[in-house]
Amino acid sequence: MDSTSGGKGTRRGAWRGRALGQGMTLAGAIVFVAFACPRTALATPKPPTSWVPAASSNYTPSGPRHLQYVVIHDIEGGASGAIAHMANPSSHVSAHYVIGYEGHITQMVADHNIAWHAGNWSVNTKSIGIEHAGFAAHGGFTEAEYHASAALVRWLCDTYHIPKDRHHIIAHAEVPDPDGSGFGGSGHHWDPGPHWNWPHFMSLVLAGGGGGGGSVAPPPAPPSSSGSLAAMKVTVPNLNVRSGPSTANGIVGGVHDGQVYVSMAASGAWRKVWFNGHTGWCHGGYLTHVHATARKVTADALNVRSGPSTGFAIQGQAHHGELYVPLGSSGAWQHIWFGGAARWFHGGYTSGVGL
Ligand SMILES: [Zn+2]
Repeated sequence: MDSTSGGKGTRRGAWRGRALGQGMTLAGAIVFVAFACPRTALATPKPPTSWVPAASSNYTPSGPRHLQYVVIHDIEGGASGAIAHMANPSSHVSAHYVIGYEGHITQMVADHNIAWHAGNWSVNTKSIGIEHAGFAAHGGFTEAEYHASAALVRWLCDTYHIPKDRHHIIAHAEVPDPDGSGFGGSGHHWDPGPHWNWPHFMSLVLAGGGGGGGSVAPPPAPPSSSGSLAAMKVTVPNLNVRSGPSTANGIVGGVHDGQVYVSMAASGAWRKVWFNGHTGWCHGGYLTHVHATARKVTADALNVRSGPSTGFAIQGQAHHGELYVPLGSSGAWQHIWFGGAARWFHGGYTSGVGL
């Protein structure tokens, strides 16, 4: 959901989506689609949807568009709240589709019209926005939701020739701010958050086979080289670190956009990292591999401090064999990512390891 839609739309024109965008309930339309567009006829049919039109003041009417993106959002709640919000003429936000926990799909804006969802007008003009019941901070996305959404996205990609890859099926968190100051659109939203299971979702999107006009790329992330040491950079504003490799495990801390940690093991899509003198697990879909020279601790225990001298408070301890990635240094002191923050330890008790 996005309360800073960047809509910039006109309000002229009543809602008139059904005839152009939907029409699938008309037998004539089905015949037309099947014979006029063989590629579509071969693809998975559109999953069932119900219609609740967004208020006409919440989107911009348009003719057929050249669609390039599907933007994945979460609602920060259940479907009914989003549907009511978009039907409210004063909300000035909308998305094309809303998917509930039980997998029910509600269409609110015809595909050809421009919904106000991304906080970036250019992206709005080229995209379909899909809202999902759930929360960025703690997920809650259901299997029914993933399956319904994947079937819808597969149909959208086949119908509008959008490549089924993570360059074109993107998170709201991956939409640039139009002023270049970051991502998540003008509101710097971070949905759908780290609990959205991208590898699982993309595998479902691709499960229906090829089609569409673009390449059918394998699912994105989880970085390769499982088991070997790798420097991994966090790509979302807030990423939970858990005690084990699934969302069923407790949260032991958080890491943040741009921070780099060293992973030493993998389990499925999850990566085990040295985090704060202990280890934790992060979902690899929100990490990207980078090259770095890490510092390997050679002392049994090494104090980690808030500044580059023994005059600063001890924040924790790193242990023999652990690796941390420096973001800089001051004299003999190394400035490292440690426990979600930038801390310091003395480089004299470490050695460099290229990753
Ligand atoms: Zn959003």
